[in-house]
Amino acid sequence: ADDRVARLLEGLNPQQRAAVLHAGAPLLIVAGAGSGKTSVLTRRIAYLLAARDVTPGQILAITFTNKAAAEMRERVIDLVGPRAAYMWVSTFHSTCVRILRAQSGLLEGMNSNFSIYDADDSKRLLGMIIRDLDLDPKKFSPRGVSVAISNFKNELVSPDEAAASANEDDFTAATIAKIFSEYQRRLRAANAFDFDDLIGETVALLHRHPQVAEYYRRRFRHVLVDEYQDTNHAQYVLIRELVGEQTTASGLEPSELCVVGDADQSIYAFRGATIRNIEEFERDFTNAETVLLEQNYRSTQTILSAANAVIARNTGRREKKLWTDSGDGELIVGYVADSDREESTFIAKEIEELTDYSIGGSSSYKYSDVAVFYRTNTGSRAIEEVFVRHGIPYKVVGGTKFYERKEVRDVVAYLRVVANPDDSVSLRRILNTPRRGIGDRAEACVAVHSENTGRSFYESLIDAAEGKVALLNTRAVKQIGGFVELIEGLRADFLTHFGESDTDDADTAFLDATEESADIGELVDAIVERTGYRSELEASNDPQDGARLDNINELVAVAREFSADAAQIDLESEAEDAEIDREGEPEPGSLAAFLERVSLVADADQVPDEGDGVVTMMTLHTAKGLEFPVVFVTGWEDGHFPHMRALGDPNELSEERRLAYVGITRAKQRLYLTRSVTRASWGQPVSNPESRFLQEIPQHLIDWRRTEPRRSARGFGGSSGGVFGRDGSFSGSGGGSSFARGRSSYSSDPARGRNKQVHLDIGDRHNHPKYGMGKVVAKEGSGATERVTIDYGGSAGRVTLLTAGGIPGEKL
Ligand code: ATP
Ligand code: MG
Repeated sequence: ADDRVARLLEGLNPQQRAAVLHAGAPLLIVAGAGSGKTSVLTRRIAYLLAARDVTPGQILAITFTNKAAAEMRERVIDLVGPRAAYMWVSTFHSTCVRILRAQSGLLEGMNSNFSIYDADDSKRLLGMIIRDLDLDPKKFSPRGVSVAISNFKNELVSPDEAAASANEDDFTAATIAKIFSEYQRRLRAANAFDFDDLIGETVALLHRHPQVAEYYRRRFRHVLVDEYQDTNHAQYVLIRELVGEQTTASGLEPSELCVVGDADQSIYAFRGATIRNIEEFERDFTNAETVLLEQNYRSTQTILSAANAVIARNTGRREKKLWTDSGDGELIVGYVADSDREESTFIAKEIEELTDYSIGGSSSYKYSDVAVFYRTNTGSRAIEEVFVRHGIPYKVVGGTKFYERKEVRDVVAYLRVVANPDDSVSLRRILNTPRRGIGDRAEACVAVHSENTGRSFYESLIDAAEGKVALLNTRAVKQIGGFVELIEGLRADFLTHFGESDTDDADTAFLDATEESADIGELVDAIVERTGYRSELEASNDPQDGARLDNINELVAVAREFSADAAQIDLESEAEDAEIDREGEPEPGSLAAFLERVSLVADADQVPDEGDGVVTMMTLHTAKGLEFPVVFVTGWEDGHFPHMRALGDPNELSEERRLAYVGITRAKQRLYLTRSVTRASWGQPVSNPESRFLQEIPQHLIDWRRTEPRRSARGFGGSSGGVFGRDGSFSGSGGGSSFARGRSSYSSDPARGRNKQVHLDIGDRHNHPKYGMGKVVAKEGSGATERVTIDYGGSAGRVTLLTAGGIPGEKL
């Protein structure tokens, strides 16, 4: 046994070792990218199980993605054996779903088969509310309101508190608070939680029921959190609740807490993440200790130096010394393309060489060693087109959004209604899909009845079928009757234990019993058959409908596979005695389990495995926590990366710089940084100057394969300006930074750009060296006094510039 424990500490450096061995006080491990934070967390769990008499059931580990959770679990099982399978390792959201399901008896008006609403469901519900309250949808868009509500929830602000904090004469704030309140009421009536609720309602539950909070504290003696820098306020409070503060009357010590993170990698501020949590850890948790890791095991020194140089420009950060003993490695490869298409071609050709066995021999790479990152989802398109032509196998992570396709959502809505008939958003979605002659008017009559009687929308449909709803014509009554019969039939055939009773117990029983009667694949199949969804698509001549049919069949296959996997898990786990760890988890293979999987699937969970043999393509945000031998980071242009939105806002700019740091530090051996002089944006070619981040990298680290291409006689004056006119002509407006670098260097004289005439028209875009990207909104005067007004957004706002006889640069 001692041997085994010794092996768990093997290969760790002294700081890592200290972090694994640490016992007692709350522990924060802060360290730069690739220093082994995630590895240490994993080893620590293994060590707890092997050497410290901790049982798997006492461990709660929280990761940022489901995929990371699965990997961590696998890794611990490798280290200490199969009993580790019974730890809770999951994302914040999955953890909370388990707690809420297990404690659903304490959730007023809810039961354990609650629906989980994603962003699209939330917006639908908000749309209904905004309509019902007769509000101007231009002023109160579902999207805008959902952001506001999400912000409240991330801060644990209740509708009442939102209303109280809204200034009396601030109509907008007061109205949003009112919508928020109504939204929560309808969510509960639908037996549904939205994503943010999962966290917030768990916190509320633990606050309301101290004995439940104590139960979980007693149970999870160890709480471990990865990527702590991207937690928001609600998640922070949840952790506090789960860990506990002081020794309680019953003598319970707080649980051991271990969090790891890197403030420089915080990139989810738009979801409420705050580095405050990492910065204040020592103040938040009594007696907290901090361990710093400084050795990087992932990247070459060249890659690290580049990353360090970029992040060093952020202010107010804690200086970190990150080093490696793996040597300098290859230079970073830089490339300036004329267009995004050409940028993609360069990447494809490089990948062909890197993976060519006849060139690299045994040192050549596999496709799965390579990843390509871009700033926004649209960045994949040009690259995909070129990869297809070159025959390079790839997978785009996220972006494809299978579960966001209309037809897939329709069928999932049927599944949700079968599981939870109170789910009114799903119910109203499918009421007339496929079309069955239940029009808007009939729907409205049922909605009014529901409102007046307080009966759920589904109960109101039953009332309608029985002729108890006012103003419905006989045809509508008949159609609604048919629909209710359809749903009841599905429930009767697939939910074996569903009885007359509406109590919690019966609901739970049928959810768990689903797999006894049939697998989810059969249920999906029955839905598309009985509703006529499949035959309608089959009969259509529209090629789009062919694609829809494929997606439906894909969903059937996904569901079948899910049931088959679950049957396997069931067989394996029968051998183990782990009653307690199943708590809150729906039976494997049950409808609830399937819906949970579908609802909580995230982009990052679709990252391919090595065995898939494909190049991985994803956004920089999705790349967090991952590593690849070869990494291409594309689109290094001011206005693109950093994003245009960030150019006038120091906080956003810092966040973009952290994103650059995350991107660069994913690379183990080879890093490529590419940019394009023009890029298609909203269907228009846009010319952006070189990203300021690229300029922050010491130039001796970069081997420029190609620099700024020479332009026609009209000239392109340097790297920080340039505008495409309406006629497609290019006119320089550069501030002119020096461009002498790399081998085929091109040097531009700053003065050259200065004498170029600028042709700007209303609607044109302009990139200013100081204000960033903007759009021309007005033009006055002519000749020597010509002025344009350009809106640069952000704090720069509208700026009037003298254009005549030189570059726009003189602020009037
Ligand atoms: P990020 O900040 O990107 O999340 P991280 O700090 O979590 O990175 P890991 O992913 O845990 O870092 O580790 C980076 C790489 O270094 C991994 O390949 C890991 O296996 C390796 N590694 C970590 N510690 C050691 C060690 N002591 N010896 C050898 N390799 C190590
Ligand atoms: Mg990590």
